[in-house]
Amino acid sequence: MRQVVGVVISTPDFSGGKIMRVLLVEDDKALADGLSRTLRGSGYAVDHASNGELALKAAGEENFDLIVLDIGLPGISGFEVLEQLRKNRHLGSILMLTARDSEADRVKGLDLGADDYISKPFSLPEFEARVRALIRRSQAVHTPVLSFGRLKLHTVAKRAQIDEEDIDLTPREWSVLEYLLMHAGQVISKDQMLQALCSWDSSLTHNTIEVYVSRIRSKLEKAEISIRTVRGFGYMVEDPDAGAQ
Ligand code: CA
Repeated sequence: MRQVVGVVISTPDFSGGKIMRVLLVEDDKALADGLSRTLRGSGYAVDHASNGELALKAAGEENFDLIVLDIGLPGISGFEVLEQLRKNRHLGSILMLTARDSEADRVKGLDLGADDYISKPFSLPEFEARVRALIRRSQAVHTPVLSFGRLKLHTVAKRAQIDEEDIDLTPREWSVLEYLLMHAGQVISKDQMLQALCSWDSSLTHNTIEVYVSRIRSKLEKAEISIRTVRGFGYMVEDPDAGAQ
């Protein structure tokens, strides 16, 4: 928790104080050390496995909220680990680390059940943003209330509150907002949003998304959450909890 002039601000702790556990599967020692430090700095407990066998053993013995999985591993590959994890009903999120420009790897990984990927080389802030988003998604399953700075989302009741005060959102605005917040810190294209949201509303278009986003913006003014327009591409919500320790 951060303390700011006596006011407790919520941090990426959505779980009533439970420390989130991350299993980092990476054979490159220097990279593994750097990522471990970053994850620990964000307040997560980190276990490290330097190959696929050790990763499967660790995941079989303990529960992890997130597994960060390198694809290029000695021995059994990250793909095989991924397949085995999903077969063994690993319920936490999985973030793949893929080689740059390997579209085929990304598609294969997502097909095998990875939740997201990040291509090497990546920046640490980008890595932290992906991790935070995935931990939130995995926690949303168990935790009905998610905090984003002063904004709270009650995911079961589909209510949003700023400082305990309800804000009025239509079901469509709710869905757009929830999607953006679950991907806070990442640039989201309108196409991605359409794909994710059209299951509940096939009449959504780029233009209607713009309308919802502009309404949401004005409703969120008090929460100090900014939805940035990324010209010609889509949107990005600045994560209000980014940098929180
Ligand atoms: Ca590797």
